[in-house]
Amino acid sequence: MNREERHHFDVLVIGGGPAGMAAAACAAECGVRVGIVDENPSIGGQIWRGESNGQRNTDASKWFQRVSMSGAAVLCGWRVVHQPEENVLLAENPSGFCDLKYRRLVLAPGARERFLPFPGWTLPNVMGAGGLQAMVKCGLPIRGKRVIVAGTGPLLLAVADYLRKHGAEIPVICEQASWRSLAKFGLALVSWPAKIVQGIGLKLDLAGVPLAANSWPLAAHGQKTLDRVTVSRAGRVEDIPCDYLACGFHLVPNTELPLLLGCAVGNGCVQVDEFQETTISSVFCAGEPTSIGGVELALIEGQIAGLAAAGRTTEARARFDKRKKARGFAQLLDQTFRLRAELRSLSLPETVVCRCEDVSYWRLRQHTSWRSAKLHTRCGMGPCQGRVCGPTTQFLFKWKPDSVRPPVFPARVETLAALARQLEVQHSELTGGH
Ligand SMILES: Cc1cc2nc3c(=O)[nH]c(=O)nc-3n(C[C@H](O)[C@H](O)[C@H](O)COP(=O)(O)OP(=O)(O)OC[C@H]3O[C@@H](n4cnc5c(N)ncnc54)[C@H](O)[C@@H]3O)c2cc1C
Repeated sequence: MNREERHHFDVLVIGGGPAGMAAAACAAECGVRVGIVDENPSIGGQIWRGESNGQRNTDASKWFQRVSMSGAAVLCGWRVVHQPEENVLLAENPSGFCDLKYRRLVLAPGARERFLPFPGWTLPNVMGAGGLQAMVKCGLPIRGKRVIVAGTGPLLLAVADYLRKHGAEIPVICEQASWRSLAKFGLALVSWPAKIVQGIGLKLDLAGVPLAANSWPLAAHGQKTLDRVTVSRAGRVEDIPCDYLACGFHLVPNTELPLLLGCAVGNGCVQVDEFQETTISSVFCAGEPTSIGGVELALIEGQIAGLAAAGRTTEARARFDKRKKARGFAQLLDQTFRLRAELRSLSLPETVVCRCEDVSYWRLRQHTSWRSAKLHTRCGMGPCQGRVCGPTTQFLFKWKPDSVRPPVFPARVETLAALARQLEVQHSELTGGH
């Protein structure tokens, strides 16, 4: 792919999860030129990874079909890393990089898991809950393995169910939220009957697997790889042998790309108006970056953003009530799965917090801000660029990551060199070669 190749779209959608798929299908069905970009080999996002329209009649298959029938150009294996000029994004793919020019943009880059450090969390086979699920979807054999699932949030149940259906043994699911919070959550679900049905289904599928509330991992042990986990189980300390620990503390919105484009972010979420338009005109945002609310909210926000970006505001408005209801569920998730203060003290002084740059809890403790820690310890300056340790230090020390710089993802040297050459040319054009 050559940088000279510029792709032009009326509506460009970044992110091929449920939100992006709904946005792309709805916009393309209005007859405008639409492109949908995802860094993965196929669209589907986190929840529909590996599915396709050839499968049974599910919500997923309907959306796969709608995208494919809509005429939207699907660009998979492309990762957006930079905005070189207004209304242009730079994307890398396996054979090079190119410009994507747009009139209107819908950002739907999803969320990621939050990780908290505890002794042994960097051992092989200690993985993110969604991360382990993604690896199993991509072929990692899990049959016969003992997997402890721990952390917080509804993703734990979905992952435990998935792994069990693929032959894993789940000795326990450790949920840090209290029984009281979980009971309140259960009662509040009367406003979302479909979720009750989903919950009952999960409970039946997970029959025999203990769900321990008020419980979390204290330490992971093993010589070369994990062989057991110490957990605090409702106040008692217990050692449990296992092959994997699948551990995630709910989700955090991916806001790097919106921040790079100048969109306002508040309380960790991208700020949008009723049409999902951000504070930057013609840039819309949908799905998990605006709040962690599950697949229904992602789909409805995606539809509103896609329709609004295509100029169909009346059709978008007709979906506002449905979105209001789905947003209520996002608030309920936020209240129920808020992290308890005890989780701030799981690390020992020598526990690594920034695993890209090997920075310990003790070294970070000497600093009073993200910036100071970054400058003095290189925390957040490795390949993850603060995606993992940023939310962690935000919880541990109440620090706020202060800025986002291009490239927002690690990029190839070839791409960076071409960008530098382009800047030189622009500078020389502006100064008349002086
Ligand atoms: C690891 C993980 C696993 C999950 N598993 C489940 C599950 O099993 N069941 C469940 O109910 N919910 C699950 N969820 C929650 C689920 O993702 C949400 O409920 C919802 O589907 C989010 O939809 P979305 O479109 O907003 O985001 P996503 O589905 O996350 O889609 C965002 C997409 O954007 C792409 N992207 C991001 N940045 C760029 C870029 N710069 N360039 C190109 N592409 C980019 C990503 O590759 C991704 O495919 C999971 C979440 C995570 C983080």
